[in-house]
Amino acid sequence: MSIQKVELVIIGSGPAGYTAAVYAARAGLAPVVLAGSVTAGGALMTTTEVENFPGFVDGVQGPELMESMRAQAERFGARILLDDAILVDLDGPVKTVETGSGETFLARAVILTMGSAYRKLGIADEERLTGRGVSWCATCDGFFFREQEIVVVGGGDSAMEEALFLTRFASKVTVVHRRGEFRASKIMAQRVLDHPKIEIAWNSEVAGLIGAEKVEAVELRDTVTGAERKLPATGVFVAIGHDPRSEIVAGLVDTDADGYVLVEHPSTRTNVSGVFAAGDLVDHTYRQAITAAGTGCAAAQDAQHYLAALD
Ligand code: FAD
Repeated sequence: MSIQKVELVIIGSGPAGYTAAVYAARAGLAPVVLAGSVTAGGALMTTTEVENFPGFVDGVQGPELMESMRAQAERFGARILLDDAILVDLDGPVKTVETGSGETFLARAVILTMGSAYRKLGIADEERLTGRGVSWCATCDGFFFREQEIVVVGGGDSAMEEALFLTRFASKVTVVHRRGEFRASKIMAQRVLDHPKIEIAWNSEVAGLIGAEKVEAVELRDTVTGAERKLPATGVFVAIGHDPRSEIVAGLVDTDADGYVLVEHPSTRTNVSGVFAAGDLVDHTYRQAITAAGTGCAAAQDAQHYLAALD
């Protein structure tokens, strides 16, 4: 257990956190990155092929990309700790960040990049088949399902968007929704209803996933009658929402009603002086590795300018 004074603490180690670390380290700020004790490297650690991160002609495995980002940040002097921020005090010129292993950092600036977690279906085999047919991102993975039959789970605007986007690749898209009508805006719902490639499984939920190596079919359960049926599909896109991981700063920085940290766009400044936020923690919309990296870069520069102005 120790108390250490540092210039900058970065909480989170996805593309936003590691990119912020590269920029801050190259600016001589010797940032400390609290990477998380279990999930260091962020959301891309749970995927296989990433084909849309610029610079990799043949794509790159998610964990390999994150490992490179980590090594790049360390090369310039970032200290990366496999530790969680568990308690923070962001008031005043010196911020306190306590970690799960009992370290205390006194920092002049803090960058928040804790990401967000996709809501899961909570059924057996979901974990095992993630990246093997089960996906949370049509933009990322739609391309892998050309001329195949796909299921989209959800009834909100994101599910509608995912379904419409996936019609570019799929031979057929079935939207599986628990209720008898969509929650989505009328215009989005109508586009889905009118689309010749889309079918709707109303009052249905995914009760099981079938497939040894990859998804081959889904087990649907009727939410009214309880009847079950098998629907062939090689892709299952889960679009039932996501939750920003802002628990540790709840009540300390301004968030929207869903818990996303609010920043003064186009900067990454939060409402608290010396505290910046980037990546999926602030982003409802784009939610890509490259956009997270982009705002991580901006956060490091914002923190650097803030610290320079204090000196
Ligand atoms: P994250 O990557 O979520 O990282 C946040 C990190 O902060 C995590 O490691 C978390 O453990 C850590 N953390 C949280 N709380 C704390 C705390 N209190 N203390 C310490 N650490 C903490 N995007 C693409 O561009 N292309 C793709 O092909 C692609 N595929 C994807 C596949 C899957 C399965 C998933 C889930 C996402 C995919 N994405 C893809 C989206 C992309 O991964 C995210 O947009 C991106 O990772 C967001 O980066 P981030 O840095 O904001 O957050």
